[in-house]
Amino acid sequence: LDTTRPSEDDGTITLSGIGKSFGSFTAIEHIDLDIRGNEFFTLLGPSGCGKTTLLRMLAGFETPSRGEILLNGRDIARLAPNQRPINTVFQNYALFPHLSVAENIGFALKMRGKPRSEIERTVEEMLALVQLDGRGGQLITQLSGGQQQRVALARALAPRPAVLLLDEPLSALDQKLRKNMQIELKRLQKETGITFVFVTHDQEEALTMSDRIAVLSNGALRQVGTPHEIYNHPVDRFVADFIGETNLLEGRVVHEGAGRVEVALEGGVTVTAQADRPLAAGRAVTLAVRPENTALADPAPGQLCGKIDQIVYFGTDTHFHLTLDSGVPLVVRRQNRADGQMLPPVGARVGVTLESEATRILKD
Ligand code: ATP
Repeated sequence: LDTTRPSEDDGTITLSGIGKSFGSFTAIEHIDLDIRGNEFFTLLGPSGCGKTTLLRMLAGFETPSRGEILLNGRDIARLAPNQRPINTVFQNYALFPHLSVAENIGFALKMRGKPRSEIERTVEEMLALVQLDGRGGQLITQLSGGQQQRVALARALAPRPAVLLLDEPLSALDQKLRKNMQIELKRLQKETGITFVFVTHDQEEALTMSDRIAVLSNGALRQVGTPHEIYNHPVDRFVADFIGETNLLEGRVVHEGAGRVEVALEGGVTVTAQADRPLAAGRAVTLAVRPENTALADPAPGQLCGKIDQIVYFGTDTHFHLTLDSGVPLVVRRQNRADGQMLPPVGARVGVTLESEATRILKD
């Protein structure tokens, strides 16, 4: 592959005030978003939240009802798909079954009237890039699903777009192949320096692969940040709940304050949590704490206590599903040790501690 990487501001996308309505239905509310050049950026959200609609507007298959889409500072919102230096890899690959692997990969270059020698050279480079060296002569139907996915990627990368859009490209692959392709995609992105905009509803996939993630629901952005920020500092209940498993607890602020704040939970137990804004005494708040930031303890007065309803073994760790004395469910995750440890059984009454540094007060 040509190792001249795109410059820093190449492949920079700015969405400003983007909205999309289908008749009276608003699929995208109003989105302002910057995607940096050379970034692996993921649009994450549940089915129907508008991810595909947003991607289709970037590709040019849909025209925004409102707003601007800038690519490297130029408004492209009303350009036809083939006038944009943007390519898409679809979920179903959309390869040409009657053409060979090499013909598929070289297709766009041929359409653009590139000389044959250049097409051949690029096809070879692309085959090497996706680790299908020597397979150029094969027919698409002779390849496995994972290999077809690689051809689809090579075909989309061959014209060297500034931006590659990927719409749930791994959803048709089995679990193992999917994991391999996640690593592979990340490598391809870094190696080519092309901006990738990746759509998925799989939060684990988003956390593994992305430089940054935008979480969407109901056509609106809820949070944009690095996987670490999104996972450890979810701004609201929706993000906390959608990304990984989260325990949510209701309570009231004991004393006015910010930073470390005492919260009285339902049932009367007081815990310490992190607040990123000043909160008045008596204010009702929701706390979020991940199962891995909780621990089992001996039951004691003044401490959260509950009963174990279910124990689920995961190999690396065990999840304890409890019902607290207040009636609220809570999951405790405990890392397994190789030496086999004594674990409390289903039905046991246990205490629970929350890591105060990792217990956060959510935005309402
Ligand atoms: P999924 O993960 O299920 O593909 P998504 O997040 O990609 O979901 P979109 O396909 O963008 O969601 O759809 C967002 C909303 O817009 C949905 O309610 C959908 O029904 C609606 N929608 C999308 N395209 C059209 C259209 N052409 N006409 C009318 N409504 C549409």
